[in-house]
Amino acid sequence: MQGADGTALGAWGLGGFYTRKGRLLMRTAEIKRRFLAHFERNGHTIVPSAPLPAIDDPNLLFVNAGMVQFVPYFLGQMASPYRRAASVQKCIRTPDIDEVGKTSRHGTFFQMNGNFSFGDYFKEGAITLAWELITTPIDEGGFGLDPDKLWATVFHGDHEAERIWHEKVGLPKDRIVRRGMADNFWSMGIPGPCGPCSEIYLDRGPEYGREGGPEVDEDRYLEFWNLVFMESERGPGVGKEDFPIVGDLPAKNIDTGMGLERMASILQGVDSIYEIDEIRPILNAAAELTNKRYGVMSGHQASESHPDDVRLRIVADHVRTALMMIGDGVVPANDGRGYVLRRIMRRSIRAMRLLGWSGPAMPELLPVARDCMAPSYPEVGNEFERISSYAYAEEEAFLATLEHGITILDTAMRETRGAGAKQLSGDKVFQLHDTYGFPIDLTVEIAEEEGLGIDLEGFHRLMTEQRNRAKADADARKVGHADLSVYRAVLDAGGAVEFTGYTDVSRQTRLRAILSDTGDWLQGAGEGETVELVLDRTPFYAEAGGQQSDTGIITLGGGRFEVLDVKQPIPGLFVHSGKVISGEVRAGDDAYAAIDTRRRRAISAAHTATHLVHQTIRDFLGESATQAGSLDAPGRLRFDFHTPTALVPSVLQDVESKVNAVLTEDLEVRDFVTSQDEARKLGALALFGEKYGSTVRVVEIGDYSRELCVGTHASRSGQLGLIKILSEASIGSGLRRVDALVGMHAFEYLAREHLLVSRLAELYRVPSEQVAERVEHTVRALRDAEKEIEKLRSQLLMSNAGELAKTARDVYGVSFVGVEAPEGTSANQARVLAQQIRAELPQSHPAIAAVVSRVGGKALVVVAVNPAAKERGLSAVDLVKVALSGRGGGNIDLAQGGGLPADQAIGMINLIEATIASYRSSAASG
Ligand code: ATP
Ligand code: MG
Repeated sequence: MQGADGTALGAWGLGGFYTRKGRLLMRTAEIKRRFLAHFERNGHTIVPSAPLPAIDDPNLLFVNAGMVQFVPYFLGQMASPYRRAASVQKCIRTPDIDEVGKTSRHGTFFQMNGNFSFGDYFKEGAITLAWELITTPIDEGGFGLDPDKLWATVFHGDHEAERIWHEKVGLPKDRIVRRGMADNFWSMGIPGPCGPCSEIYLDRGPEYGREGGPEVDEDRYLEFWNLVFMESERGPGVGKEDFPIVGDLPAKNIDTGMGLERMASILQGVDSIYEIDEIRPILNAAAELTNKRYGVMSGHQASESHPDDVRLRIVADHVRTALMMIGDGVVPANDGRGYVLRRIMRRSIRAMRLLGWSGPAMPELLPVARDCMAPSYPEVGNEFERISSYAYAEEEAFLATLEHGITILDTAMRETRGAGAKQLSGDKVFQLHDTYGFPIDLTVEIAEEEGLGIDLEGFHRLMTEQRNRAKADADARKVGHADLSVYRAVLDAGGAVEFTGYTDVSRQTRLRAILSDTGDWLQGAGEGETVELVLDRTPFYAEAGGQQSDTGIITLGGGRFEVLDVKQPIPGLFVHSGKVISGEVRAGDDAYAAIDTRRRRAISAAHTATHLVHQTIRDFLGESATQAGSLDAPGRLRFDFHTPTALVPSVLQDVESKVNAVLTEDLEVRDFVTSQDEARKLGALALFGEKYGSTVRVVEIGDYSRELCVGTHASRSGQLGLIKILSEASIGSGLRRVDALVGMHAFEYLAREHLLVSRLAELYRVPSEQVAERVEHTVRALRDAEKEIEKLRSQLLMSNAGELAKTARDVYGVSFVGVEAPEGTSANQARVLAQQIRAELPQSHPAIAAVVSRVGGKALVVVAVNPAAKERGLSAVDLVKVALSGRGGGNIDLAQGGGLPADQAIGMINLIEATIASYRSSAASG
């Protein structure tokens, strides 16, 4: 038996699988395992992947390399807990989206296997460790690559790396290529650590492209591993070359990245990463749905693939990427990470459309992606319900957009042609895009099919105007005004506002300035007006560090003002927004500012509780459980934190009882201001990456917790009374959220719960300890019954296909079966039934089966058309669209849709039959 590279395979069956031709190949999971084992053997600590969203860095949307989570170690901002580490990091590279499917090697989502040295080994260690792993024979635990087919690149002038490759490793000089900045100098694309690199390539042979090394053809010569010699720090700039080097790093480090999917494509002997075991099943499912045969019209070279193959790869890649993104907490949105998700989902839906499938595809493909990825990432299996609900809803919304947009586009094209024009106006295209969310590339393509051009210049002009408007809008919403200049002027005129709220709850002060919500500086404001007030001093806390702002009343000479919100749009300026509730306020008035003390007390208690929860979670889970965000509201807190593993539920109970025990100790809460260094020495917890000034405020609760904080707190832990943790949930893998109540809020909650349990115990007539067991029993019995019903219904339905086929009516030479399945028959069951009936009908002769069913108050329909009927020009998708007034999707053979009210089910069958009939008569007359 032979491995992918031709070497004989020994006794390792476990990580492999057999191809149809009987070849044993290495699974992606096995490659991952061998990689980590190799580096663990060589003294590396195995570190779990960071979550995909790059939380600590506002410049980076997604983690794009294994080294991202180690940046502070490379920069020397933090001491690294290990000298050597290895990981398999989940990555997303948005700049690679356009390459997907067109090359053999770019995924949007991919996994990077990396080994890292923090001031430990350098070039020689990195090169020899990599070489050993890739060239060790497969049956000795390596990857078994043929050394004669390997190439390396080095950075121009990096003689040291060149020498190691040649002298230590023995690579001939003609397979060591020198390349410049763009190819062999690595950075994350943003300021941070960087350095020259050396990449390893495999020559896949002449079927994959031209001879001549990596510089000639990067598809034939496949880069699979990049070794970065991390020794410098770069500044801001664009592209791969245009940035300054701002200095040396404190130590010489190693950062490497081996593309897991690329190695899998090599070891599984397939042409591209889309054909490996973790992706190919998704591609197959898409091909099956769209009736395409992948690969039959393409050779080995990705760049020359048939467009349908490219589309199938896009679908497979994007569906997998969507799964992983939503799994890590990203949800569809119009900006940021959510927009990337939206974009890739739309691209995959679009690709499916071009492949001929216009119905919902996610429900068919996403579960396949889950099955591919869950073995390595169990969370996508455990949380599939959440993940799929986002994905399915997003697809449904986009399909509706498409349906709607196409009607409008049709009208616009008709009008354009009617007016004798050859181009759709920029206005129209913009309207489609802006109002209906219709993608521009789709407009271009459909217009082209109809022989029309598009005024792209006009479109882009309108887009730019719109973007500028939106930006001004967003800025205005953030701080109340379109720009900050008026705030700056108020600050310059009167200096920083003194915040006295750590000690005061009310105070005498003076009204410095009144601002309208459009940013005008006013002299006065009358009853009912909504304005912003700036005082010389204030006890009002402005929202910061997760703590909500105070509310309250400001009493002035001639009127009263209700404070609804307080913000610091620029540091040092406290802005109170709210409404004049009586009289009139004038700039320069004496003022008496009083916060709502009950609310403040409840917020402060929540904030103190947050510190206790934070410390306690770290005590239980270890240092890696760092804070990711928090909210302190009256009597309620939310605390988000990083942790690589799921929590055992009992840990939270332990956290809760520990915190409650600390409350009863009635510890004193103290705060003091000190230098950053001093605070660090004291071991105060600080959010990593947070920018503090040179002096900082430290809040400590007895000896239990010590944290940098700007918020307000209870004065003793006993004031909190009680805390109750309500829930703990994953908000992305590696990121968890705890919700809790404090004080009276916690007590009222427990009292309500107690009432509820008593009521249930009464209903079930059991003591309250047995309620849970009884409910569980009832639910299980119900679920079993439902499953049984479902099974019986399917059996009944399918056994009927033969009988139903006998009810075929002849509609002008087409055998037509139109049936209504029993209420509750799902789309899946209806589809199988329609296909079975079609199979029972004579094949030599046109035949069509239509199955309708009512589910949850809605009607759905599936139509299956046989090849003879297709020849007559009848199409399943057209018939479904007739029945559903334009909705639904699928292809010529099989289509489905739904959404109309249930009472229209029978009407749909009649419509389909009438259409088949009318088709016949129009075909006959035409
Ligand atoms: P390429 O030039 O092929 O885009 P790169 O130089 O951008 O690759 P690196 O930044 O050096 O790649 O990343 C390290 C390794 O990660 C690469 O050698 C490759 O194996 C893998 N890799 C990079 N980008 C992708 C991607 N989009 N999909 C799959 N693997 C990738
Ligand atoms: Mg790249």
